Amino acid sequence: MAKVADWWAAARGERGDSPTRGLKVKQKLLRMIFEVSHSTLPDEFGGFLKKDKRGVIAKLVVLPGTYSNEQSATYNLWNKPIDYDVVGTVHSHPSSIPLPSDADLHLFERVGDFHIISAEPFDDEHWVAYDRAGRVVEVEVV
Ligand code: ZN
Repeated sequence: MAKVADWWAAARGERGDSPTRGLKVKQKLLRMIFEVSHSTLPDEFGGFLKKDKRGVIAKLVVLPGTYSNEQSATYNLWNKPIDYDVVGTVHSHPSSIPLPSDADLHLFERVGDFHIISAEPFDDEHWVAYDRAGRVVEVEVV
């Protein structure tokens, strides 16, 4: 339980480090995100991000019942597995602007500490990572 307490302390900013500090994301996962984002056009794509055993964000989880159209992707959050390895969300912006909308910020706040927006044309130059509060996060690609 100490781990959970530490996490909450960090999330509340009570310690020097943040839950997003030192995060790493797999290049392979990013490639997959770009591909799915592209193949979902003209609609948005939305999913969840999961850590592997070493704490590297490496997996994509798509929830059953996720509905998407050209403006948004809507998650059925009651389908979200209770899984502490799920660190946050990823979705695409066919608009090519990787800035979070108000709805995105609301979602970020509710589900996890780490969120990726992948914008058209869906490549290494067009994605941004955010924390729970919608602040841009530096992340190492491995
Ligand atoms: Zn969005």
